[in-house]
Amino acid sequence: MSLLVFGTMAIDSVKTPFGAREEAVGGSATYFSVAASYFTEVRLVAVVGDDFPEETLAFLGERGVDASGLDVRPGKKTFRWKGEYGFDLNTAHTLDTRLNVVADAPPGVPEGFRDSDFVFLANIDPTLQAEALAQTDAPRLSACDTMDFWINGKREELLKTLSMVDMVVVNDAEARALSGEPNIARAARRIREIGPGTLVVKRGEYGALLFHGEEDAFSAPGLPMEDARDPTGAGDSFAGGFMGHLAATGDLSGEGMRRAVVFGSVMASFNVEAFSYDRMKTLTRADIEARYRTFAELARFERL
Ligand code: AMP
Repeated sequence: MSLLVFGTMAIDSVKTPFGAREEAVGGSATYFSVAASYFTEVRLVAVVGDDFPEETLAFLGERGVDASGLDVRPGKKTFRWKGEYGFDLNTAHTLDTRLNVVADAPPGVPEGFRDSDFVFLANIDPTLQAEALAQTDAPRLSACDTMDFWINGKREELLKTLSMVDMVVVNDAEARALSGEPNIARAARRIREIGPGTLVVKRGEYGALLFHGEEDAFSAPGLPMEDARDPTGAGDSFAGGFMGHLAATGDLSGEGMRRAVVFGSVMASFNVEAFSYDRMKTLTRADIEARYRTFAELARFERL
């Protein structure tokens, strides 16, 4: 089934205790598209300036991403983000955000993308997220992500977007900031009261929690990794694996959702092994399935 993503394509400068990268390709829609492309065909809607690397566009084409919704604006600069992580790789410290071309008129959803079955509103201005969703025809599942920049800067607009989607994917700090509730289970309840029936709370290296329908929460483990280098894009890669699996199978049952959380965790775990989306350039389906089995083994325990 068709999967549309709307979000940022960016040029990031990132420093972690394990290295630094200046002006590397990032962005919520970029990471999402690359990860999801291992599961299904992705329809990409984003806006960039004419400084965005051709090489990435060519790579997305090779991965079967339909970039006909990509608006390349001559004379404009691409969105830029500068961030740093300490030894706690779960927390990104934003040093600088330049909206650049994202502050201009948003890209429209092309006519041929409007019937998308699955829609992911990746991290970007919540007003633009709502406008993009309004340009689609009642998808089977719509989901969105966000971050502190928008939670603090455009709260009312964000609450409106949250009330329009079926599902929200955020990290634990974002869930707390959104709900004003320090306890994650209570925060989850508050967020779901805003509208979305399904919520995924990503917990960085500690895994992810799924709250879905009337079912009990599901917890996917975090893989203990010796070679985590750059967590940038982990959340978007998670969402790409998650939504990619759902779109590939069309299975929105509780079991299907649980599998999707694990596929999301698998893609995030690969992504953090290298800067930018470098590690996701050369994956195979066999790599992905092998790591899925590693996750299953990690969480295996006997029933009483
Ligand atoms: P994450 O998956 O949460 O690590 O997302 C990292 C990506 O989010 C980076 O590649 C950034 O370019 C992008 N990003 C950073 N700040 C923002 C923002 N305010 N809005 C949208 N995307 C952002």
